[in-house]
Amino acid sequence: MKNLSFRIVDPKTRAFAVMSSKTGVRKRSLAAIKTLVTDRFDEFQLFRGRLNEVEAISLTEDSKKALEHCYSSPTEALKAIKEEMKRSLKEQYGQIALRCSYCQVRDPSCWDHYLPLSRFPEFSVFPPNLLYVCSVCNTKKGDLVQEDKKRFLHAYFDNLGDSSLVIAVISFHSNVVEISFDTHPDIQGLSPLHAAVCEHFEFFDLKNLYLRKAKEYLSSILQPMQKYKSGNLSYREYLRIIEVEKSRIPVNSGKNDWKLITIDAMETHASEVIRFVNSCPMAPAPSLAPIDGWEY
Ligand SMILES: [Zn+2]
Repeated sequence: MKNLSFRIVDPKTRAFAVMSSKTGVRKRSLAAIKTLVTDRFDEFQLFRGRLNEVEAISLTEDSKKALEHCYSSPTEALKAIKEEMKRSLKEQYGQIALRCSYCQVRDPSCWDHYLPLSRFPEFSVFPPNLLYVCSVCNTKKGDLVQEDKKRFLHAYFDNLGDSSLVIAVISFHSNVVEISFDTHPDIQGLSPLHAAVCEHFEFFDLKNLYLRKAKEYLSSILQPMQKYKSGNLSYREYLRIIEVEKSRIPVNSGKNDWKLITIDAMETHASEVIRFVNSCPMAPAPSLAPIDGWEY
């Protein structure tokens, strides 16, 4: 869960550039509601930290169709908005590959209307309402509205600061190592925004998504440690390995990156992990698959 900066200058003008590229009856329909749409854009900006409170308005069928057409029919102006937003994201992610604005794990491939197109067509091409996301999150969210409470975080406007929002716990049961993720207990009940973090985590099933990623990652770190079997892996050596792994995570991944959380858990549970590695039977052969008997 990493905050992103919205860097599109004058988003209202950009949206109107798309609308003014329409012709005929659509152009006339859009011209007739320009003042209304301008007011709605202002309302969006005003409510940007609590967009779940924006209420839908009624529009004529013609206006609605014309607004939807602005998004569904490709134009140079809309293409330029999307390209600029992607460029801005690439700058912010830096060394990290682009990630979905909701799960921040999978690759983004499509655009989601934070306020759904079906209920808020006036924001169809308004850049702050467009989030570059993965197809899984896009399908999951669909046209759902948030009604009484915020359920999805807006990566640009829900400023989460630099606090730890998610934790991982590593546990051992006989010769099985397990890792689990959850929202940090300290943030539960702290504020409506933190409540939204918990909702978001639950809704996009980040618990299992992080788990799947961490499973591969843990395996790649723990397997090489097998050479220290039979009680030979020292605390110092373990911490050095963890430190090296940590240094490989780009700084701009953010404090709540699943990989960093996993490494933090390995640091917190250092003694148990070392004891586990030192007591574990040797792996039959080097492999990327989890070591025999090590289940996640
Ligand atoms: Zn996603």
